[in-house]
Amino acid sequence: IYVLGIETSCDETAASIVKNGREIVSNVVASQIESHKRFGGVVPEIASRHHVEQITLVIEEALQRAQMEPQELDAVAVTEGPGLVGALLIGVNAAKAFAFANSLPLVGVHHIAGHIYANRLEQEMEFPLLALVISGGHTELVYMKEHGSFEVIGETRDDAAGEAYDKVARTLNLPYPGGPHIDRLAHASDGAIDFPRVWLEEGSYDFSFSGLKSAVLNYMHNAKQRGEVVPPEHVAAGFQNSVVEVVTAKALRAAKEYKVRQVIAAGGVAANKGLRTSLSAAFEQQGIPFFIPPLSLCTDNAAMIAAAGTVMFEKGITGNMAMNGRPGMVLSSWG
Ligand code: ATP
Ligand code: FE
Ligand code: MG
Repeated sequence: IYVLGIETSCDETAASIVKNGREIVSNVVASQIESHKRFGGVVPEIASRHHVEQITLVIEEALQRAQMEPQELDAVAVTEGPGLVGALLIGVNAAKAFAFANSLPLVGVHHIAGHIYANRLEQEMEFPLLALVISGGHTELVYMKEHGSFEVIGETRDDAAGEAYDKVARTLNLPYPGGPHIDRLAHASDGAIDFPRVWLEEGSYDFSFSGLKSAVLNYMHNAKQRGEVVPPEHVAAGFQNSVVEVVTAKALRAAKEYKVRQVIAAGGVAANKGLRTSLSAAFEQQGIPFFIPPLSLCTDNAAMIAAAGTVMFEKGITGNMAMNGRPGMVLSSWG
């Protein structure tokens, strides 16, 4: 089975062809980061405009790199939501047009299901499974007892981890997106400021990062008023330590309580070196198989959408020409 995936939920215009839900045949990502950088974040109107300009080229390139004709495809999978409404619409409309023109079934994929299924491009999923989804818009622990079954057992009550990374980076005058810069500074640091760990109620798998973010902001503000110079790497390291410690501890506790056979990480923040190291060490010690996709599959891409879309297609879950972008789409089980 060959599936064309299309992703335009945020600031990457992406198309990819995946074989049997597991093998990348081609994977094209046009990033808009340079255009959004000077605004310190993604500007929805600019994102939409870029998607319009790029989408046809990106789809054509995905076919060309795969050396395939549209007739050789079995389905088109597209990110239906969540995301920026204007951005989603461009991908959904391109997918509808492509599916219609080539008489192909259309599959609408939840962006986070895509992030989770990125792992399947590397190794087969073993159930029951725990997925740590940690990205620019989400931080959640998802329990999966089988393919297409998603139970969110914990999630952030305020900011997503990536959002907190980006905001802290901004106060440190680091370029957007800030996550990789904080990661780099934290690694090069010879010290770390002690910021709070937010655990919430005993036994909760939820997260909260806005308190930590405020603690960092207050610390910077107070230091400035006292005329102190704070080494930015100490702030970066302190912030990262707090995020990594809490996320690792909660993921580990959930994996044990739910007796999962595999833990996978997904989303842009899963690219974080500190987090990768900490999670790998924790799960190795417990003897629980743990996987993180390579960096290029952690951040937004269309191969992950094709991977998830293939399983949906195999289950007979297809959409139709009435499909629309769903900015507030909720992750629910398939079928
Ligand atoms: P969502 O998937 O929730 O809709 P998104 O698509 O914007 O949100 P991703 O593209 O998955 O999110 O990830 C982007 C986020 O990942 C940004 O917040 C970025 O700062 C963060 N990020 C990328 N690399 C790293 C890193 N090495 N360390 C920490 N954060 C990182
Ligand atoms: Fe994403
Ligand atoms: Mg992105």
